[in-house]
Amino acid sequence: MDRPIKWKNGARCAVVISFDVDGESPWILRDPALAERPLHMGMGAYGPKTGMPRILRILDRYDLKCGFFIPGWIVERYPDMAREVLKRGHEIGHHGYLHEKPFFLSGREEEEALLLKTLDIFQAVLGIRPQGSRAPSCDPSKHTMELLRKHGFVYHSNMMDADLPYCHKTPYGELVELPTAWVNDDWVYFGFSAVPPVGNGIWSQEDVFEIWKEEFEGAYDEGGFFNLMGHPQVIGRPSRMRMVERLIQHILAKKDVWIARPIEVAEHYLSQR
Ligand SMILES: [Zn+2]
Repeated sequence: MDRPIKWKNGARCAVVISFDVDGESPWILRDPALAERPLHMGMGAYGPKTGMPRILRILDRYDLKCGFFIPGWIVERYPDMAREVLKRGHEIGHHGYLHEKPFFLSGREEEEALLLKTLDIFQAVLGIRPQGSRAPSCDPSKHTMELLRKHGFVYHSNMMDADLPYCHKTPYGELVELPTAWVNDDWVYFGFSAVPPVGNGIWSQEDVFEIWKEEFEGAYDEGGFFNLMGHPQVIGRPSRMRMVERLIQHILAKKDVWIARPIEVAEHYLSQR
């Protein structure tokens, strides 16, 4: 059973607002032929090009510092966007190279090689070593936690087996998990492609607001942890960011909620053990 956690500054609940800046990468990984298709390249590019400036502007409005998980290929393709994320005080975490799902890779060697390749890109383009990782499509392999810890990561964030942070045990030490859930992921409500078929139709942002507000309220009620996952190519639209802004206002109105970068929550959790 999850153990209650004493959150920072006596807060009743911890909140992470995170964004997976996938851009074109998942479309190309799904089918390399889509790299030649303006429709899907445009849908992907909307995230880094158009969604991100709006998201950063709205987070600044509330002085929120958040987490952005970015594939190495996207860091190379949009270096100024990634630098801007850091400049504004947010955290950047690992999210594969070209959005590879670790579970579907050939094995430990391929997964480690892609991880090292991406770490080199982060160092070369951004001068940072990421401390957190979100496995693309929430689909880690049995090697993922061990490899992350081996290469100095502090946390992983997308297991769906718990409400509260916990630790994976690996031969290299413990790796914090910041759990998530599909219900807190925008893609399932708003992601859409006709051919190839992707998604479940386009939902009303009011319905999604109600779902997320209640997820937050449940976490707040139990003194828990609310981990929201957005994708700038779908959540970055004006209507949806208006909804996210209302959610931010709702959360901030509680006064005793700790909204933090994921690394801060992971380190706080470790300090509590
Ligand atoms: Zn992703």
